[in-house]
Amino acid sequence: IFSKVPEGIPQPGTTTCDTSETIDIENVPLQGGFLVKTLVVSIDPYLRNLMVAPGTKSLLPTYTLGQPLMSYGVGVVVRSDCRDMKAGDHVYGTLPHQQYFVQKDLADLRVLDNTHRLPWSTFVGAAGMPGQTAFYGWKEFSHATRGETVFVSGAAGAVGSFIIQLAKMDGLKVIASAGSDEKVEFVKQLGADVAFNYKEVDTAKVLAENGPINIYWDNVGGPTLDAALEAATQHARFIECGQISGYNTGGAPVKNLMNVVTKCISMNGFMVTSLEKKYVEEFYRVVPEQIAKGKIRHREQVFEGLQNVEEVLRRVLKGETQGKAVVQVATK
Ligand code: NDP
Repeated sequence: IFSKVPEGIPQPGTTTCDTSETIDIENVPLQGGFLVKTLVVSIDPYLRNLMVAPGTKSLLPTYTLGQPLMSYGVGVVVRSDCRDMKAGDHVYGTLPHQQYFVQKDLADLRVLDNTHRLPWSTFVGAAGMPGQTAFYGWKEFSHATRGETVFVSGAAGAVGSFIIQLAKMDGLKVIASAGSDEKVEFVKQLGADVAFNYKEVDTAKVLAENGPINIYWDNVGGPTLDAALEAATQHARFIECGQISGYNTGGAPVKNLMNVVTKCISMNGFMVTSLEKKYVEEFYRVVPEQIAKGKIRHREQVFEGLQNVEEVLRRVLKGETQGKAVVQVATK
């Protein structure tokens, strides 16, 4: 339950609290809907942006004080009164952080086809929203040509690690930044040609030595974006996916925006949902199979129990998780 608007990084035990309200799963009225048991929920950086004071302007639906958090998740249908849904079906979409909940209709939930027998947690990671973000954004905006150079920030995360692999498939040179030596090793294993720990090495210097860059996949914003603007070629493409360096602080001003003008840089921001219609069916046709065959590699860190959501979000925002952060609520 969202209980207090945080200042800075959310504080476990303050920003949210738990309740032990019970649902009688055998008898709870379904009224034409279905009862879902939550299996996994995804902990993503953007959840921080939803923890704002009532009335704050936002393009995304923000959390309501006193109500459960919500995020992407996978659940299994336990009972159903709904024609399109049967017990045992698995659904994916935005779920409330409850062990069980009654859903009136399918709304924007998707019934998952798990032909390739992936763990359900993967459907909130590489085979879910973060994978879709990378897949859609790269297809739509990269205009990649073999031999070009791309810089990926936040490269060890769920989105960034997928981007490295898409760029290598397209024959690009990849420069990748991440926040620990261990993460740097991981992104090298994924194929990054140049990888560095941005906390220890100057980003501008690395880009000057290994650039210029034709494409920048921006997960972080702030000073890293400034460095990328300096290192960009004429007509570079900047894909603005996220600005995590500012999520807890409001963000630092970008100084080098004039380079967008002088270098004729195209900058495309996007929300994963804005490209969903165009690419979602292709994504589910291609990506789960590629993951199952090991052609797309990914890593997940799975934590147990809804009571740990807040702590996991704190770790995600501090860069203390490895790969996709997932909270497992039930195993089946
Ligand atoms: P990650 O798995 O990459 O987790 C967040 C990572 O961000 C941390 O592990 C940390 O890695 C890094 N980070 C934290 N603080 C900073 C900082 N101050 N400067 C630089 N890096 C920082 O998250 P995702 O892969 O899920 O998301 C990546 C980005 O994509 C985020 O900005 C997210 O909001 C955005 N996004 C956008 C979507 C869209 O529709 N546009 C959809 C999904 C995600 P490290 O240790 O390397 O610092």
